[in-house]
Amino acid sequence: MSDPIHEHDTAAAGLDLVAKAAEPYLRTLDDRLVHDRTRDALLRELEGPLPEKGDGGPAAVERLLRIGTEAGTHSSGPRFFHFVVGGSTPAAMAGDWATSLLDQGGGLWLVSPFATHVETVALGWLKDLFGIPASFGGVLTPSATLAHVTGLAAARHWWAERHGVDVAAQGLAGLPQMPVLSSGLVHASTRKALQILGCGRDTLRTFSRDDAGRVDLAAMEAALTALGGAPAVIVANLGEVNSGDSDPINDLADLAARHGAWLHVDGAFGIFTALSPRTAHLARGIERANSITADGHKWLNVPYESGFSFVQDPEILGKAFGAWGAAYLPSMDDERINYNMLGPESSRRARALPIWATLRAYGREGYREMVERHLDAASHLGALVERSPDFELVAPVQMSVVCFRYRPPGVPEDRLDDLNSALGAALLADGRVYAGTSTYRGMTVFRPTLVNWRTTRADAELLLDVLRELTLR
Ligand SMILES: *Cc1c(COP(=O)(O)O)cnc(C)c1O
Repeated sequence: MSDPIHEHDTAAAGLDLVAKAAEPYLRTLDDRLVHDRTRDALLRELEGPLPEKGDGGPAAVERLLRIGTEAGTHSSGPRFFHFVVGGSTPAAMAGDWATSLLDQGGGLWLVSPFATHVETVALGWLKDLFGIPASFGGVLTPSATLAHVTGLAAARHWWAERHGVDVAAQGLAGLPQMPVLSSGLVHASTRKALQILGCGRDTLRTFSRDDAGRVDLAAMEAALTALGGAPAVIVANLGEVNSGDSDPINDLADLAARHGAWLHVDGAFGIFTALSPRTAHLARGIERANSITADGHKWLNVPYESGFSFVQDPEILGKAFGAWGAAYLPSMDDERINYNMLGPESSRRARALPIWATLRAYGREGYREMVERHLDAASHLGALVERSPDFELVAPVQMSVVCFRYRPPGVPEDRLDDLNSALGAALLADGRVYAGTSTYRGMTVFRPTLVNWRTTRADAELLLDVLRELTLR
């Protein structure tokens, strides 16, 4: 009785349950605790032995929804400010459901011309949105980390070619170490990508002129000169996760041009500064990059998993990832685009659908307004922090990140880290607003990031209110 064929004629019943759960869930999302620890006990109801006879679709889905809507982290609500976590716009969420409904294979044109074409259109719109030239190649990835793998694999291919080696075919043996240079703003995922690519995560060298990690251009230039013309990779960071600080992309592009280096830009969320005339100067120069990483599941507000990789030379992704040599696959000179030859995945989800839906729904204007609402809320929070005698702004607010700490008068400096760590733990346990702590310039700090489409100034204000309330306990 358990064979799914028995649900052939009622296949939409489970979807009905999800749709019915959606209305009350989304209506109450703004008011829920971000995470309610009293519901963690529900997780046990997921357990039990593998059923011999299944429950049937509706019962299984009903259980999943009952547990998930209560014990899940409501991070797509307006007050998850920890890390950099976006939500899901109404159109993006519906686009994501459509992705599951249609279940397209997004790897080969032959499998789904529809998924392939949506991806091509969505990539074109994203380039337009960010001011990346239309001539760039690109591919959607599950995340920024995988976009780094994609862009840096392209860099590695270019670099090995300069040494006369086809690294896709021959591997790295016999080659020197690939020089990778960045500032102290570099994100851990860049090192992880180098680790995956066999370049080694510890080979990345940083050049900083201060403890905030800001780039030391002269020292980086000296290191490039010392390479004596050997090809190198520069990683520029647009939007650092603790401070919202960025490297001067144009200066790094100049360095890359002078030394014939590859420029890779990490714009995971910071690339959205290109959308507002108030912050566009931060992103200036990305159009000169050889490869660019960005995320969809952060400031674009599409559901997990969503990232993008763009490369200046549209041929290079095919060289780095294509030509698998399987007889049943199309060859590289297939006139159709086969996205599984342009990135690390083979079979892949049609992850362009929610991107297409949300860009079609809200357009350039809508996204600019949303980004500017976040910029306003972040600078408002920064101003509130500056005005409070018991909080200290630790870095200037440049985009959607506000870096600050609790610093009540009279508490000695060497007690502040413990005090902030304890406050961070209390905040997460409270659950109304999520913002944990991090370390910045040797200090334990809060670094809330405001990128969720539901977030308003009032949500940012609530963070300080709740922190004050917790310090009084
Ligand atoms: C989040 C982030 C990443 C990694 O992104 P994932 O989507 O989690 O893989 C890389 N760089 C920066 C600056 C980020 O904020």
